[in-house]
Amino acid sequence: MKNLAAKISYVLAGLILTLGSCSESVQEKTQEQVPSSLIERVGNPIITDKFTADPAAMVHNDTVYLYVGHDQAPPGKDFYEMHEWLIYSSTDMVNWEERAALNVVETFEWASGDAWAAHTIEKDGKFYWFVTVSHKEIHGKAIGVAVSDSPIGPWQDAIGAALITNDMTTDTDISWDDIDPAVFIDDDGQPYLFWGNTIAYWAKLKPNMIELDGAIHKIDLPNFTEAIWVHKKKDWYYLSYAYQFPEKTAYAMSKSITGPWEYKGILNEVAGNTNTNHQSIIEYKGKDYFIYHNGSIPTQGGSYRRSVCIDYLYYNPDGTLKRVVMTTEGVEKTL
Ligand code: CA
Repeated sequence: MKNLAAKISYVLAGLILTLGSCSESVQEKTQEQVPSSLIERVGNPIITDKFTADPAAMVHNDTVYLYVGHDQAPPGKDFYEMHEWLIYSSTDMVNWEERAALNVVETFEWASGDAWAAHTIEKDGKFYWFVTVSHKEIHGKAIGVAVSDSPIGPWQDAIGAALITNDMTTDTDISWDDIDPAVFIDDDGQPYLFWGNTIAYWAKLKPNMIELDGAIHKIDLPNFTEAIWVHKKKDWYYLSYAYQFPEKTAYAMSKSITGPWEYKGILNEVAGNTNTNHQSIIEYKGKDYFIYHNGSIPTQGGSYRRSVCIDYLYYNPDGTLKRVVMTTEGVEKTL
């Protein structure tokens, strides 16, 4: 049925373009008359041949690159099994092509496994992929950095060691508080690293992106669990994060990347059939997107076999965010 709908939508798209060349008013009327079920979409989840989780999207040269963890737990296993991350790309938000994979232990000699949440960012023509892994020798999770001259790779361990290890933060006894890196480069070029589970941390990064510059700070956020994402829109900074457990997504706003952050409420509810969530927020071709995961692939989908989804994000005039509406239909193909 999807193929049929896609074919019909191509025909309709051609019809709209033809009519559009006649007059704008005819084009608008025709678009209004197109049944929403025939607009080209793949629907959610956007990737169905593999289980994917913890999306981090990056726009570069008019292409969206999507970095995800690969859920590889076999049916019946109720814990994470993740040996690699995957890269997808798209130029229309609907058609996603798998481009490359990055294996934990083949890339980071000091890591023992666990391709948990990651985040990729470009700086000065190089691409830095901050990742969560388990450390071989220092008990607990750790954050490493891979670097490449391209958003696809090949990737190399940028440091040859972890950037953050569990023993660098000792405010909690848990061994998984140093996870979920989120990197943000402010307008003045200063890069910042955010991360954490249970406690939200941040620190400045040096211009080389592979060393901390100064102290590790903490942020007080209500019901903080993990999965920080930081972005800026107009003159507001937004810090979104996984809230409570099972996880909703909540957010805070600030006029400065270093805070103080004002809590603004729930942004997204618990996503179907998974107890975690992990959001990525981007603007692409004039629209705002909320990228997340659920566990909605039939029979095997769930908390350890997740699937990346995309829906629209909308801002209120005062800069606050409208609550995300998770849909089966997903987003439309961009023009
Ligand atoms: Ca720690």
